[in-house]
Formats: sequence, structure tokens, C-alpha cells
Amino acid sequence: MKVREADFVVVGSGLAGSTVAYALCELGDVALLSKESAQGSNSFAAQGGVAAAMSREDSPLRHAADTLLAGSGLCNPDAVSLLASRAPQLMRWLMDSGVSFDRNEAGDLALGLEGAHGAHRILHAGGDATGRHILETVRRLLAGRSNLLQVDNVQVGKLLKDHGGRVAGALAIESGSPGSRVAWLARRAVILATGGSGQLFSRTTNPPGALGDGVALAYEAGAQVRNLEFVQFHPTALAVADSPPFLVSEAVRGAGARLIDAAGRPVMTNGAGDLAPRDVVARAIYRHQSLTGDVYLDTTLISDFSARFPTIHEYCRARGIDPQTTPLPVSPAAHFMMGGIAASLSGQTNVPGLYALGEAACTGVHGANRLASNSLLECLVTAFELARAMKEDSSTERRGQREGSVRFAAGRELSSASPDALHQVQTILWRSAGIERCAASLQEGLRTLSEMERHDPQSSVVVTASLIVKSALARRESRGAHYRTDYPVVDPQFANDTLLCKEHAVCLGSM
Ligand SMILES: Cc1cc2nc3c(=O)[nH]c(=O)nc-3n(C[C@H](O)[C@H](O)[C@H](O)COP(=O)(O)OP(=O)(O)OC[C@H]3O[C@@H](n4cnc5c(N)ncnc54)[C@H](O)[C@@H]3O)c2cc1C
Repeated sequence: MKVREADFVVVGSGLAGSTVAYALCELGDVALLSKESAQGSNSFAAQGGVAAAMSREDSPLRHAADTLLAGSGLCNPDAVSLLASRAPQLMRWLMDSGVSFDRNEAGDLALGLEGAHGAHRILHAGGDATGRHILETVRRLLAGRSNLLQVDNVQVGKLLKDHGGRVAGALAIESGSPGSRVAWLARRAVILATGGSGQLFSRTTNPPGALGDGVALAYEAGAQVRNLEFVQFHPTALAVADSPPFLVSEAVRGAGARLIDAAGRPVMTNGAGDLAPRDVVARAIYRHQSLTGDVYLDTTLISDFSARFPTIHEYCRARGIDPQTTPLPVSPAAHFMMGGIAASLSGQTNVPGLYALGEAACTGVHGANRLASNSLLECLVTAFELARAMKEDSSTERRGQREGSVRFAAGRELSSASPDALHQVQTILWRSAGIERCAASLQEGLRTLSEMERHDPQSSVVVTASLIVKSALARRESRGAHYRTDYPVVDPQFANDTLLCKEHAVCLGSM
């Protein structure tokens, strides 16, 4: 096996991984490993925008208040406050770095409105191609870095530890070549920025690589994972036969589109209507579909749809639907993982040497439900916080050669599931831990996953899926995106995090 070394080993080249790699290049050499090119990331697919209080009528305090409300009592207020207060300066950094956010005719930022935001504060670029514009800009900054080595098409299957139990490297396997392994040793830190886990569910807006690998890797290495029961289901993914559930961004409803049934009657008749929190809208659609039938998003109400949402427009047209003249058939799909590897806002986990960022991490900013467009922002804030913490923390300073001092972690080496096994996991999670859950469905799901684990103990998707189901079983209440039909209301007894760790059983509260 080949052995390579770098000061920092970053796993994942989406927005979190690419930004932290850029920031860490100031401090040492960086290896940026990824199982796909950056185009295969959730970040590249992000449409609607990025939240920041940029207008005179808005403030970081209001942004933080909306975030806390969406999080249903499980956000970390300090983390939320930092997220909201850093947002305007990070938007200015993005603009200085070359991101052209869309502007109105007067030349001001065209700030969009999304569900549960109390102000127009969504910056977007290229209409509905915000993620691509931001990611490409950050990656252009990376291109000039001589102390950065990018390696695509390698899948990390195990974290390596030194004799003191500190994470000190990652074992990477070349795609399509299982025999070809490289032990990447990290002199200072290993950073997991492996993204979300939407692909563990039958219907998802996420690209194929979003399989929750980081959660399984960290768990196997002894890290705590937090709040994995909180999966955000996006209410409006395109529902067209033979086509993956392509996201129709919330910004489309923000621009005036309405949810209707086959007879043209409105679906969202109460409260905040079409712009109610995502879990409320997703459940309303799900129930409507079970009782009455199909649901459509009436986009014909937006006269300049093709100019405002070019990506969605093009995607629909290619499938024979013109959003300017025809309502779009939509259905909910797994979209965002609020839970993840328990980490501070600077990415620190409970395992020395191991850091986690972006959607793979749970830093406390999203709580039980993410406020739309806060996740690209979280990637940026946490990446710079991590670099700042590294700069200040002498304990992770250059440790000299690692080779010889590193042993393989006690945990299993994980690998991808076969297409059949993945399909089975997706069906289990959709049925047992989908938009509505209950003890019976979750226990049934866990039984089948345990059987799968006995047959294939190395399957990373089974590890993460089992952790999601165990977390959902432990939370005997409904809160945010987690809805239990057997416990349909919020229970103040559960106003704590769900933490799982290999050495402990499920527990609520800090360990
Ligand atoms: C369709 C869509 C639209 C969205 N729209 C918005 C939006 O408008 N605003 C917003 O704020 N958020 C949005 N989100 C959410 C947001 O895009 C993500 O939360 C965020 O981009 C996550 O970034 P990340 O860097 O953590 O992960 P990702 O961008 O998903 O990157 C993960 C990286 O890890 C790599 N990886 C994974 N496992 C391994 C492994 N074992 N070994 C090596 N590499 C690995 C992947 O190849 C990838 O490079 C959207 C998401 C989707 C899917």
C-alpha cells in the first residue's frame, strides 16, 4: 500500500471541503480527496441561494431569530448567532472573489424570499444556479495554490489512528480499483466534508454520491453522531416517470407559484400557506397524495419563469413540460440532513485529530429543521472558523513525519453497497423513517437493516441508515422535520440532542 502525507487531509470537495482547503493552504499543505469531481456534489446542485441579512430592513439578529424558530428548540444559539453575524461579510468576500449575485434593475442585490424567512434575504446567482456559481468561484481560488493536491475518484473507507488514539489519516481506495489503496497520513488534522445522505432514501433531490459516508466513517472511529433523525424532506421535487426527483426550489414558491390539486384547488390553505416551513408543506402534500391524488405546483403564475429559474425551466422543457403554461407535478423527497457528526462550529469532534464540516456535520445551527438557504452559508462560516481555530491552536501544530506511528483504527473498513443493497436500504428508509414514522415501522426497518449488516458488515450505507433509524426510534415525540404518528406533538422532555456513539447506547443530552 502506498503512503502519502500532508498537513491536512480534507475528504470531500463540495463547498465545505473546497473552502476549508483554500483557508488551510495558508497554514500548510493540503490533500483534498474526493470520490467524485466537485460537479457531483450537493453544493454544485444548490439552486435557491444563500441567506444573509444584506438589506437595511433586515439584520443578523432577525436572521438568527428566524433560524432559531425553524430549529424548534434544538439549535445552539451561540452557533446561530455566529452564523447570522458572519453572513454579510462572507457575502462581500464571495463578491470580491468573483461571485456575481443577481441584481435588480436599480443595481441592488435581488434578495429573494423563502419559507420561514421574515425578510427578503436570499442572495442568488445565475437565477437558480447559486451553488454552481459559488463553488466554481472558490475552486478558481484553489487553482493557484501550489501546496494543494487534489485527488478525485478516491473513496475514503476508513480513518486511521495513531497509538494515542488520535485520528491521523484516512485510507483512500481508487474508484473502480478496490485493490489500489493509499494511506493518506495527516500531520495536523483530518477533516470530513463528505456532505449529506439523501441517497439513502428512495426519493431524493441529492446526487448519487450523497450516501452519508462521513457519518459512518466518524462513528466507526469513535465519534459522536448527533440528531440523525432530523431529515428535511423538500416538498417540491419534480414527479415525472423515469426521471430522478429534480428539485423545484422553494424560491419558486417565493416568487408566487402555488400548490394545487388536480382540480386546481389550493393545497396549502392554513397559516403561512405555500411558504409554511418545509416539514409542514411536505406533510400536507404527502397526506393529500395518500387521500386524494396528485399535487402540482402552479408555476404559470410567474410570468418571467424562464429568466428567473433557467435551470429548472430547461430541465422541465427537456421532459416535455413548459412551466410557463403547465403546472408541474411535484412530490416530497429527502433533501437535507440536519444531523451529522457532532462538531463545534469550528468543526472539532470528540475524537482528537478529527474535524467535520458542512452537511456531514451537526454544529447546532439547524436544530430540528433547517431554515432554507442556511446550509451553503454554514459551509463557508465553519470552513473559516476551522482555519482560524487551527491557526490559534498550537496542539495541532506540525507534528513531523507520521509514518510508523499510525496504526489502522479498530473500526471496520467500509465500502460502497451493491446497487441492489442500496436499493433495499433506500426502500427501507423511505418506508420506515420517511416523512411520517412510528415505532412499528422503525423497528421493522431496524430489523431488516440488522440482517443486512450481518451479511455485509462493511456496508457504509447500512451503518448510516441504522443510525438514522435508531435516532428516530429514540425520539418519542414530533419536532421539526421528525414526525412520529404515534407521538404527534412536541414533548418538552425531548428538548435535547440525540447522541449516538459506538461505546454508548442512544442517549438524549450531552455525554
Ligand atoms: C438540489 C439541491 C439544492 C439545494 N439548494 C440549496 C440552496 O439553495 N441553498 C442552500 O443553502 N443549500 C442548498 N442545498 C443544500 C446544500 O447544497 C448542501 O447542504 C451543501 O452544499 C453541502 O455542502 P458540503 O460541502 O457539506 O457537501 P457536498 O457539496 O455534498 O460535498 C460532499 C463531497 O464529499 C465527497 N465524498 C463523500 N463521501 C466521500 C468518501 N467516502 N470519500 C471521498 N469523498 C467523499 C463527495 O464526492 C463530495 O465531493 C441544496 C441541496 C440540493 C441537493
